[in-house]
Amino acid sequence: MALEKIKVELPTDEYYEAEVKCRNSCPVSTDARGYLMATVAGKYEEAYAISRATNPFASICGKVCGAPCEKGCRRSDVDEAVVIRNIKGFLTDKHGPETGDLKTPLTYSIAPGSVEPELNGKSVGIIGGGCAGYTCAHDLARLGYSVTIYERWEKSGGQLVQGVPVNRLSRKVVADELASIELFENIEVKNGVDVGVDITFQELEERHDAVFIAVGLARGKKIPLPGADHEDVHIGLSFLFDFNMREKWDLTKHRSIVIGGGDVAFDVARSALRCGSPDVQLACLEREHMNEMTGSLEEREGGRREGVTINDGWGPREIVIENGKVKGLLVSKVIRVFDEDGKFSPQLEDETRLIEGEKVFFAVGQGSDLAFLENSGVEMTPQGWVKVENEETLQTSKPNVFVGGDIAHGPKLFIDAVASGSRAAQGIHSYITGQAPQSLKRKITFTDLPEYGRDSVYVDDGREEREELPVKPAEQPEFNSTVEYPDEKAKEQAGRCLECHIHPTFEGDICILCGGCVDVCPSYCLSMKTVDRVDGGEALKTLATMEFGSMEVAEAEGSVMLFDPLKCIRCGMCAQKCPTGACKMSVNEFEDCFA
Ligand SMILES: Cc1cc2nc3c(=O)[nH]c(=O)nc-3n(C[C@H](O)[C@H](O)[C@H](O)COP(=O)(O)OP(=O)(O)OC[C@H]3O[C@@H](n4cnc5c(N)ncnc54)[C@H](O)[C@@H]3O)c2cc1C
Ligand code: SF4
Ligand code: SF4
Repeated sequence: MALEKIKVELPTDEYYEAEVKCRNSCPVSTDARGYLMATVAGKYEEAYAISRATNPFASICGKVCGAPCEKGCRRSDVDEAVVIRNIKGFLTDKHGPETGDLKTPLTYSIAPGSVEPELNGKSVGIIGGGCAGYTCAHDLARLGYSVTIYERWEKSGGQLVQGVPVNRLSRKVVADELASIELFENIEVKNGVDVGVDITFQELEERHDAVFIAVGLARGKKIPLPGADHEDVHIGLSFLFDFNMREKWDLTKHRSIVIGGGDVAFDVARSALRCGSPDVQLACLEREHMNEMTGSLEEREGGRREGVTINDGWGPREIVIENGKVKGLLVSKVIRVFDEDGKFSPQLEDETRLIEGEKVFFAVGQGSDLAFLENSGVEMTPQGWVKVENEETLQTSKPNVFVGGDIAHGPKLFIDAVASGSRAAQGIHSYITGQAPQSLKRKITFTDLPEYGRDSVYVDDGREEREELPVKPAEQPEFNSTVEYPDEKAKEQAGRCLECHIHPTFEGDICILCGGCVDVCPSYCLSMKTVDRVDGGEALKTLATMEFGSMEVAEAEGSVMLFDPLKCIRCGMCAQKCPTGACKMSVNEFEDCFA
């Protein structure tokens, strides 16, 4: 019986680019690999510059980004992902605007334009002073636009100051990063201006050549349960707003119940502890052991450590009110959360139990407040968000109006809002000038590394987060939860990077098929096969025909080297072992630029 052929892929430029998964998973395509390598070399400023190149919020990112780069990181195929976010935090502590130098970080941007732009006579109005609004302002300012940000509150920063609890993110870092962007003389920030109340949307359209809507999703929601209207039943986001922007609530006499299982629910629960609540219970439909909860592992572990009780797999039925007071939340065990098609369709058992508490907080989703768009002609989605007409430019149904951040794509990570702020800036520039919008492109060059070698024991180093200080939540009002890495620790942790831009390559003409590289590889990622054993589609057929004259001859006489990039640890032993130099380690140098 004929053996089934092994499916193979022939490497192309796109393949090599996709291999650097940290960069490919980052919404702003930050070259994490690049700054990790520079950190290992002790070139911290160069490393910081790489982290800041496509991201005006690198410092905040180093503290609270949801780190999609780490979720993509290939090191997790070996053991655990590199602590990419912590390394960025280490670098921004040394060179970000929080050092007091607001100007230098601005110079590291590679967004089109200049840090000292010439004004082009055009103006853009931005509604919302969150990270989407400020990123768009930053990128437009570089292109010479006069930009005005209209922000409802006296303090800019959006959910980074209103929602993210103050103990998780230093407000000094936020203020410094915003102040750095505000150094552009062609950016004006009008705080305390509520669009729709203090100025109409139509007035903004008249004042500016284009308008960017970046108002986020600041409205919380309640589920219409019996008892939900009671005065001790709150919206989690409003509680967080007070916690961060006004005064902390006194919850010392109230046991708290939080409904919801996402990151915001954990922020509410952990902040309730910091307001002195003697008991905090979190209840959600999603089951942790089935990976249904959306709250990150970090939040779940942190919540548990601080004393939050997680009631996962329990659906809320009623808020029980007795003698006019909240007695608790009636819940039932979940039978299922999603139906066979993966659609949200929860089913609960009939039996109930009471989670006792005197305060209930809803953290079950975010909504918008777009009353100012009434009669504006801008179309909405069924969810009540602004409809994006062109995903590439973020233009709405009105050509002069653009939208970005949470209000365009729903609640996501803050770095997604940063990415859309940049995209909208390019879209607006394209709309006003008629030029095609630019996006980040990589130029790839290949160089052989004859001296390359890396002791494979580096794969024994384990992932180490920045240590958390032991905390009693009620005593931790300010940001102080992590200990800085010493330089050596940062280098060691950055050195866990597998350097996914380096690859073994093989030159068939001088290979003597000795198999030395296959034998020496500690990760068993090389194997040699005859051509008839593999299926490489049309690409392989074309190559084989070029080399052997026909596929039939190639199948009878030819060999291929198979390489499993998931297992390769880039030790270089294959190249060192090769007696003819057919196997080499090659580096793909990437140059990022907008084109
Ligand atoms: C509690 C909480 C915790 C979070 N934690 C994290 C985290 O740890 N990591 C992470 O990556 N992401 C986190 N996020 C998500 C992240 O904060 C958001 O994705 C991001 O802030 C969205 O940015 P934005 O600019 O679209 O909107 P926002 O940050 O919401 O900014 C919108 C701004 O518009 C202003 N505005 C609204 N209406 C008007 C108006 N009519 N006139 C003038 N101004 C107006 C608002 O006041 C606000 O300042 C969290 C979100 C929340 C709610
Ligand atoms: S191992 Fe290094 S280069 Fe590869 S994905 Fe992780 S951080 Fe990026
Ligand atoms: S570099 Fe070569 S020897 Fe080392 S793991 Fe990769 S393929 Fe194997």
